[in-house]
Amino acid sequence: MGDRFRLPPDFETFPAAKLERETLAGQLGRSHVPGASELSKRLGACFRDRRCGSGACRVCQRKERKILIRAANVGLPKDRPLLRISWVPRGGVIPLGGLAGFDLRRFIASRLRALQRALPGITAFGGVDVSLNTFENGTPVWVVHLYLLIEAADSKLLRAAIRARCRGEPSAPRPFHFQKVSRAGRAKVFSYALKPAFYKRSGFIDATGRANTRPQALPAGAAVEAALFLDRWPLQRRLILHGMRLVRGRDGLRLVRRDGGHSRRGSRA
Ligand SMILES: [Zn+2]
Repeated sequence: MGDRFRLPPDFETFPAAKLERETLAGQLGRSHVPGASELSKRLGACFRDRRCGSGACRVCQRKERKILIRAANVGLPKDRPLLRISWVPRGGVIPLGGLAGFDLRRFIASRLRALQRALPGITAFGGVDVSLNTFENGTPVWVVHLYLLIEAADSKLLRAAIRARCRGEPSAPRPFHFQKVSRAGRAKVFSYALKPAFYKRSGFIDATGRANTRPQALPAGAAVEAALFLDRWPLQRRLILHGMRLVRGRDGLRLVRRDGGHSRRGSRA
């Protein structure tokens, strides 16, 4: 199609991804948590001609991110308004050590049902980020953030509909953050929504991700927990798709919209 789409300037380089994978493989190899040393071995055996495909592998996820960012750029037409909603949903706070028992698919599905009730017929694309938050040097907790990109113009009415139907985390000072996405800002926003790894944030739970301090690397124990989680829930399984689906075609992955397909009466953007 010859679109001149460019990845954002801060997109990770191949050497950086490889280095992060090596660091993580080392942390996993030193851990006694069940499954950690097996995952370390898999990451260590990821080569050009035989990729491991793990959700914890920064090299494999970098490749996956490129494909998905391009698919989003084509699948979400530039002539339609795009709104980014960052949402820390109620129930999205998990104690340290609790990621292994967290059912992400179920969590996403129930939140999307709420979104559907708030904005019937809406098309949404996005991803999930989990960060390790510490408040005022208290016990750190995992916090789940949903990054939704919806095809709609920002309005007071839309925000009110979302706040009425979608519950925010009560302990978060700002569980919602809305931001209009400019044409120039699309690549960066797609990249941000499709995060390849999890980080630590000091400060309050906040949906903006900016009011916090800069994201820091996870301590080794948390990094192992996050890696095992990411291995179970790689990027494609963390994708949020509503009103559209991912189709594997001859030219790679494509986002196909559901509108017009099935009878979706009363749906409007
Ligand atoms: Zn790999």
